[in-house]
Amino acid sequence: MVEFITVFLVSYVLHACGITIGYHRLLSHRAFTCPKPVEYFWVFLGLLAFEGSPIWWATIHRAHHRWTDTEKDPHSPRNGLMYSFTGWLSEKEYLPHLDPHTQCKDLFKDPIYRFLECGGNLPMGHALSFAIGFGFRGILWALFGWQVALASLLAGFAVLSIPLMLNVICHLPSLGYKLYAGDDDSVNVWWVGILAMGEGWHNNHHASPGSARTGMMPWEFDLSWLIIKTMHKFKLVTRMNVATHYQLYRASMKRQLVQARSGKVPKHRPIDVTSRKRKRARVRAS
Ligand SMILES: [Zn+2]
Ligand SMILES: [Zn+2]
Repeated sequence: MVEFITVFLVSYVLHACGITIGYHRLLSHRAFTCPKPVEYFWVFLGLLAFEGSPIWWATIHRAHHRWTDTEKDPHSPRNGLMYSFTGWLSEKEYLPHLDPHTQCKDLFKDPIYRFLECGGNLPMGHALSFAIGFGFRGILWALFGWQVALASLLAGFAVLSIPLMLNVICHLPSLGYKLYAGDDDSVNVWWVGILAMGEGWHNNHHASPGSARTGMMPWEFDLSWLIIKTMHKFKLVTRMNVATHYQLYRASMKRQLVQARSGKVPKHRPIDVTSRKRKRARVRAS
């Protein structure tokens, strides 16, 4: 039993980081660059969590950032709760406004990603991803026995549910808080932050999608960022974009000023995280 739980937890963290570091921050946002073997390491850990073709994943995700919480967003809860959870997965073709050859031109240069994309045939791409996922567990079964294989399989399915849950929970303003102003519904949700290796600080992520770091406050634990930072120390990451709270806070203040000038009342206001010391100084100054 101890072995089963250990394999499950280790596999969960590894595959989840495959998605957050590999599929998301590296391929979808190019938040950092690294040598190809390191890239493949994370991307294949993500692929083994049944996440589908990396090109398909990145196309959908880039579209989500481009058209966040509008009609064109591939999975906004504004367009239906169930559709934003799992409904969008049943699409057999890319939506008319999505073109992976344009939106993910960079990823088509890689022959492995091109192969996994199956020429844009989405059901075939998903089936291939499942076949690879099950094939990997078959190898684990042959080498280490059925318990290890089952624990790894369950961890893969648990990780598969993270982005699906995140798409809904972190775009429902009543379930979290905003640090930075914006027109979308994205919020930070603490327990998603922990389960999703730092991706639950989703309002921060929408404020700066290209940043390798997502957790901005001391309580916003961001394991993916800690791993990227460690890889950077060991020269396994050659470049990374890192946004700071101060930069995002300033941009947020400017956005609020523009909104106020145009008489627009924002639907969701960011929380005030100014320290007591600074608040007192502000009161004294006014
Ligand atoms: Zn989002
Ligand atoms: Zn993103």
